[in-house]
Amino acid sequence: MPERGLLIILSGPSGVGKGTVRKAVFDSGDNDFEYSISMTTRKKRPGEVDGVDYFFRTREEFEQEIAAGQMLEYAEYVGNYYGTPLSYVNKTLDEGKDVFLEIEVQGAMKVKDKVPDGIFIFLTPPDLAALKSRIVGRGTDELDVIEKRMEIALAEIEMMSHYDYAVVNDEVNLAVGRIKSIIESEHYRVKRVLSKYVKMIKEL
Ligand code: 5GP
Repeated sequence: MPERGLLIILSGPSGVGKGTVRKAVFDSGDNDFEYSISMTTRKKRPGEVDGVDYFFRTREEFEQEIAAGQMLEYAEYVGNYYGTPLSYVNKTLDEGKDVFLEIEVQGAMKVKDKVPDGIFIFLTPPDLAALKSRIVGRGTDELDVIEKRMEIALAEIEMMSHYDYAVVNDEVNLAVGRIKSIIESEHYRVKRVLSKYVKMIKEL
């Protein structure tokens, strides 16, 4: 049986650029980890594709998945459900592949309770002014949603202490490089490689 893969969780405040950084991580190629596509009840934005960006579902459908115990985590965020389907994550980790989640902070804390040996990466804004301009600059949301997102963002920054790594998103490419080097180093941890060496020695 292969060694179980690592669960990598990228999270951080609203508007910090989690989605952009996550897409850039996967566009950068030569990765050994798989993206877990989230499920949501929010409406599709222009250009988004069901089964690629998200699994877009109704509230009823989402609640059925929750009731059936099919979600690793879920959270309600600005009036919509977002969550991580459990079966894909388990199957992929069991195959020995790493799984990458990009989720908001309430969900990340739920994953931490269930999978304490996950790798928790907190993406931080270079400064709060930049955070505000990114939230406003996205231009796809109403003003009250923007204000609500800002409020949530401030509380989320206090959450950093619960994470293993803090990565500044000053430039997307730099943030991507930092995240990839964290994942690479995690594979060199003695606790992750020890059993392999013990097995090798026994087979000598
Ligand atoms: P958006 O509506 O902009 O695509 O995403 C809103 C927020 O939901 C982002 O912070 C994003 O990281 C988060 N999110 C996306 N997928 C999930 C998920 O599966 N679970 C949780 N808890 N949050 C998610």
